[in-house]
Amino acid sequence: MAAEAKERGCPCGGKLHRACYRRKPRGGPPEVEGDRAYRRRLSFCCAEEGCRRRTTPPSALFLGRKVYFGAVVVLVSVLHQGPTPTRLARLQELVGVSARTVRRWRQWWLETFVESRWWRAARGRLRAPVDEGRLPLSLLEAFAAAEAQQQLVHLLRFVSPLTTTSAPASLVF
Ligand SMILES: [Zn+2]
Repeated sequence: MAAEAKERGCPCGGKLHRACYRRKPRGGPPEVEGDRAYRRRLSFCCAEEGCRRRTTPPSALFLGRKVYFGAVVVLVSVLHQGPTPTRLARLQELVGVSARTVRRWRQWWLETFVESRWWRAARGRLRAPVDEGRLPLSLLEAFAAAEAQQQLVHLLRFVSPLTTTSAPASLVF
């Protein structure tokens, strides 16, 4: 998506230069968290003097300004649906996330996300209606793929418009 944005260039016609934001991702294994490629949010700046407008493409890696990887926010929320205390404890240990944060993410999916203007428009593009009381699992199920990993990538790409700076502030969580 970043490559496509760079290819399109600035609305003024200028070329885009890379001007990334620094990120400090959480929820991944140490070797991933420490990888330079994951420690930046791809963004561009117009090279044209007098314009310099910033273009930040959608991201499938990060969900808004949340510090945890988007994949973690989705998967932990899914696994939290009907959790047993043991499962939740294991989850917290695995990604280093507090029970409070997980509850906040669940609330975000069930309230902020479903009430967003973007979702109200986008849900119609899905083949079948999604049970909003079972998000994000129901959304994951909406993307048929041979492998669970691919399903997750489809979901993250689908919700990626939420991650651009033009998204309403209430969606930046
Ligand atoms: Zn420009």
